[in-house]
Amino acid sequence: MSFTLAIVGRPNVGKSTLFNRLVGKKLALVDDQPGVTRDLREGEARLGDLKFTVIDTAGLEEATDESLQGRMRKLTERAVDMADVCLFLIDARAGVTPTDEVFAEILRKRAPRVVLGANKGEGSAADAGVLEAYGLGLGEPVRLSAEHGEGMADLYAALMPIA
Ligand code: GDP
Ligand code: MG
Repeated sequence: MSFTLAIVGRPNVGKSTLFNRLVGKKLALVDDQPGVTRDLREGEARLGDLKFTVIDTAGLEEATDESLQGRMRKLTERAVDMADVCLFLIDARAGVTPTDEVFAEILRKRAPRVVLGANKGEGSAADAGVLEAYGLGLGEPVRLSAEHGEGMADLYAALMPIA
């Protein structure tokens, strides 16, 4: 059975990098396809033998009249409502920030299933951030490096029960 995964989290944690890795670079530029908004990119992902739809919450960095916080909230809620499961990414090098806490709160209230990803997890600089991530109360974090392709087997294991 197929499912839809929304990658959510504050700007710069590596959402699009992971999206591109899951979807494949060739398919990542889907903005022009009908039904795909600029703010939410959608693609067909592959991870091992799992195939699923993945949504990237993009467009957060664009300047608008609305505050970043308000914009993030709206986009995240839209993505959450479209998804069967959310992958909430934090930057393990930065640790858990107040903005991450805001996201965690939205997800605890609204998302039926959340997988927590501690991205930028390569190297020991991420060790403290990975431990901090347990404190979000969203279960065991999956340590990832979207850029280097590390932790993909653990992500697979976290998503497999949903498929
Ligand atoms: P987004 O704003 O959440 O979509 O984040 P991006 O995917 O645009 O990534 C933001 C920055 O983090 C870019 O410079 C990426 O190259 C970098 N980045 C993404 N994943 C990793 C990672 O696993 N490790 C490191 N060190 N940097 C990463
Ligand atoms: Mg992005």
